[in-house]
Amino acid sequence: MTVPMLEAEAVSVAYGKVEAVRGVSLTVAPGRLVTVLGANGAGKTTLLNALMGVLPARGRIRFEGADLTRLPVEARVARGLSLIPERRELFSTMSVEDNLKLGAFRFRSQGGGGDLGEMYRLFPRLAERRRQQAGTLSGGERQMLAMARALMGRPRLLMLDEPSLGLAPLIVAEVMRTVARLRDEGVAILLVEQNARAALRIADHGYVLDGGRVVIEGDSRTLQGDARVIETYLGTLAADDAPPNRAASGR
Ligand code: ATP
Repeated sequence: MTVPMLEAEAVSVAYGKVEAVRGVSLTVAPGRLVTVLGANGAGKTTLLNALMGVLPARGRIRFEGADLTRLPVEARVARGLSLIPERRELFSTMSVEDNLKLGAFRFRSQGGGGDLGEMYRLFPRLAERRRQQAGTLSGGERQMLAMARALMGRPRLLMLDEPSLGLAPLIVAEVMRTVARLRDEGVAILLVEQNARAALRIADHGYVLDGGRVVIEGDSRTLQGDARVIETYLGTLAADDAPPNRAASGR
């Protein structure tokens, strides 16, 4: 059995008296793409923030066997966790290239980040736009830049919060293809999505959150055929042209 990279065990997060995440357990194995699905308010963003250390959590969070539960954000980043928030948070008046360089900057002390050439190979569109201000990019290009900037820090686990948000279906498909390619290049990924159809096509394994709890879990193919998932998330959505998911064998 593969040793999990990320292990969350009975993680709970409360905002005052309101418990937004309730006893969530999940694992991400090395090189795997795991998705967390759920409707608005299900607790997805709160869960990611807890894993990253932005919010305090009860339960236990382990990364490559080490207990992260009490570690601050910076210590988690140093160990290889990276979170791309829903708002993407680019420096809009700076060029694409300067945004990428900033992604590497804070990792210099640990031996430097990824190199620009590698990012331009992975994201050819960004190479074409390297001198353009980030604020002038399209929504899909901004998401690509957010991913490339995170990768400049050479994360071992990349967590993405709704990368499809606000994008047209064809662009969603392109972003998802890119996420799948990053997994194929060896980066473990935790993908939070409301767009269940697009996410399940590329994921190996999935969890469905409802009211802060995991209500369904399984490999992507099983979830795609699960009546409850179909009824709730897949039944009425129009098909898009996202790529088929890689063989979903285990995690
Ligand atoms: P979305 O897709 O809208 O981002 P989500 O699944 O990410 O939804 P969360 O944003 O994690 O859900 O929210 C989970 C619950 O916690 C919701 O009921 C939300 O109203 C509540 N919540 C989120 N942030 C806060 C906050 N800062 N203070 C109080 N309650 C909050």
